[in-house]
Amino acid sequence: MALPDGPWSRLLQGARRWLAGPGLADPPPIPEALWRATLADLPWLAGLQAEEVATLRGLSARFLASKEFHGAQGLVINDRIALSIAVQACLPLIYLGADALDWYDDFVGIVIQPDEVLAPREAIDEAGVLHRWKEPLIGEAMPGGPVMLAWSHVAPDHEAIAQGHNLVIHEFAHQFDLRGKSSAEPANGGPILPAGFMGLRRPVALRLWRETWSAAYAHFRERLELAERFGEPAPWLDAYAAQAPAEFFAVACEAYWVARERFTQECPTLAPLLDAFFKRPPR
Ligand SMILES: [Zn+2]
Repeated sequence: MALPDGPWSRLLQGARRWLAGPGLADPPPIPEALWRATLADLPWLAGLQAEEVATLRGLSARFLASKEFHGAQGLVINDRIALSIAVQACLPLIYLGADALDWYDDFVGIVIQPDEVLAPREAIDEAGVLHRWKEPLIGEAMPGGPVMLAWSHVAPDHEAIAQGHNLVIHEFAHQFDLRGKSSAEPANGGPILPAGFMGLRRPVALRLWRETWSAAYAHFRERLELAERFGEPAPWLDAYAAQAPAEFFAVACEAYWVARERFTQECPTLAPLLDAFFKRPPR
């Protein structure tokens, strides 16, 4: 949906920063027409309750005011692009209370590419030979930012949602995982757990998290291998999840947020952990 650029775009272009805190003005509210148009672009959000939508709108306004968007390769960032990303990035925050946006404190920049990019990669193999190749990327998260997203993949269609895909939630799930870690200690699928997680003492909660995720990851990889080698039914979750525990966590989060019921059927051990982590009420 095309929208005229309004004061909101001018605000974004100026890359103004708004910081939460007592005595500071609220971020500029999101205009009603823009808000409605953005939700219409994301029809899979229609199941949210009125108060959840209101929370999402407030978080999105604060998100937009505290992040800097950069269009790459001539892409001009307009209201629709910025708000679509803000809404999806803020969805996992809606039950996390007033400090929810702290999860995204470690970075400011969001780089939007028009389409997928080829990122140069290199690695040294066991024989000491240096290999260089180009990896197609539609998104990337890294410690301290920026988050990179390909705009062509930002608004998932009905089929993608049914498959549990959501690029924005995937990349921001990595930010949950990266928070509090150094660049030498990359994401590993083990985000900081909130105090009193599932009513458990911290060491018990950590062990439960670690053991449940590693068992589910091993089981998933096993099912994937059986599907690839022996033609058994492929697991529902995206095969990309088998790349690493950090990817398994990010793929699980995107599926959990866009297709909760299916995710709960497919990953019954993980759903209660994500319910507790994101403090999401039962339906
Ligand atoms: Zn990833």
